Amino acid sequence: MKVLKKITILKDKCVGCGLCVNSCAFNAISMKSSKAVIDYDKCTLCAACAGACKFNAIEIEKKAGFSSVISLNEAKGVWIMAEQKNNKLQPVSFELLYKARQLADELGTKVTAVLLGSNVKDEAQCLIWRGADQVIIVENAELTHYQSEPYSVVIEELAKKYKPEIILAGATTIGRSLIPRLAIKLNTGLTADCTGLEIDKKSGLLLQTRPAFGGNIMATIVCKNHRPQMATVRHKVFQEAGEDHTKKGVIIEENIDTALFNSPRSILKDIVEEIEETINITEADIIVAGGRGVGSEENFKIIEELAKVLNAAIGATRSVVDEGWIPYSHQVGQTGRTVCPKIYIACGISGQIQHLVGMQSSKVIIAINKDPHAPIFNVANYRVVGDLFQIVPALTKKLKNSPNHNI
Ligand SMILES: Cc1cc2nc3c(=O)[nH]c(=O)nc-3n(C[C@H](O)[C@H](O)[C@H](O)COP(=O)(O)OP(=O)(O)OC[C@H]3O[C@@H](n4cnc5c(N)ncnc54)[C@H](O)[C@@H]3O)c2cc1C
Repeated sequence: MKVLKKITILKDKCVGCGLCVNSCAFNAISMKSSKAVIDYDKCTLCAACAGACKFNAIEIEKKAGFSSVISLNEAKGVWIMAEQKNNKLQPVSFELLYKARQLADELGTKVTAVLLGSNVKDEAQCLIWRGADQVIIVENAELTHYQSEPYSVVIEELAKKYKPEIILAGATTIGRSLIPRLAIKLNTGLTADCTGLEIDKKSGLLLQTRPAFGGNIMATIVCKNHRPQMATVRHKVFQEAGEDHTKKGVIIEENIDTALFNSPRSILKDIVEEIEETINITEADIIVAGGRGVGSEENFKIIEELAKVLNAAIGATRSVVDEGWIPYSHQVGQTGRTVCPKIYIACGISGQIQHLVGMQSSKVIIAINKDPHAPIFNVANYRVVGDLFQIVPALTKKLKNSPNHNI
């Protein structure tokens, strides 16, 4: 969303220091006769140059009407968008509560969980036990299943009424559909797919960290001038908030004018449950993952066999996915899924940082690698140095022969 209309160099103030030239990542500024000149064909209106200029020589013209719906000084509280499926809370809601609680405690404010559905009252108490100070519920038949239009208009109305300072949602299919719509409606910014969230001690701003430029750098983004500060968070990056049955909170039932749902542009006709032939890696308790050391698509059968006997999901490194040995949905790591199973068995995986960031919070890591110096061993709880083609089939056979194994 471009919020700026134009950037202009004020020639009378420009001293020709070149700071703006260095700050421009798009090579859109050059010096001519000791004055900065902008090439508007290259300029993306990112405004980095204005921030770099120490002489107020760069003027920014903002688009008319781009002001926050919620002003900076009235915004208070941390919100999470609780997700439900068939009126049952989804685990990502508890991960959001874990982080929201930390952020709210640092800011000295409340955590509010927003829950939409048609019969969700019974779930509200659980959100309080997991850390919410208050839960706002909205029940309506139209809200039984997630639909972008009714959900976004309802939450827009709630946000305008309660004015949250921060809104967090899961970077799930629902969160990725809902939150950008909401950010547009509230005229504010959004950082998608965050892997880290902190409060800046000095400014109190939300520091939103996410991989950028294809995962080569981690960018920390702030939303200085608009509220709420909004972020989606990768599933399984944060742990789930535990339950405290002594915790008290307030449940607010909001009635929303059903006229808001009139004339939708899309209608939900049917819900088709996803059919997974294998176990979803983000939900799995055990993952058996293969890397380039497995050698070929054909050889991946030994990984599949071990996974089958353990009732485990199959993970993979990017190298293996790039080779076409297994689909992308199995990729673990920075540009794949983040997983946190009870047991992660890494077979023929070297343990490069881009893979480790996606699996190193697994409870127990077992690594099988023929190189005793492989970096995967630095994060492994159990290190098996040897040839995976001997070890993996032997393990599968052993487990098959002891059907009552309790790994
Ligand atoms: C921007 C960016 C994003 C990336 N994102 C991801 C990502 O999301 N996920 C990811 O996984 N990678 C990612 N990568 C790639 C990452 O840097 C590594 O290249 C990749 O993880 C290596 O995969 P690997 O361990 O399968 O292969 P290798 O590094 O080639 O390791 C193979 C290992 O197998 C062992 N081995 C070989 N034969 C045997 C045997 N018979 N028995 C036992 N051990 C054996 C070897 O000793 C070696 O340690 C990314 C890279 C970049 C630049």
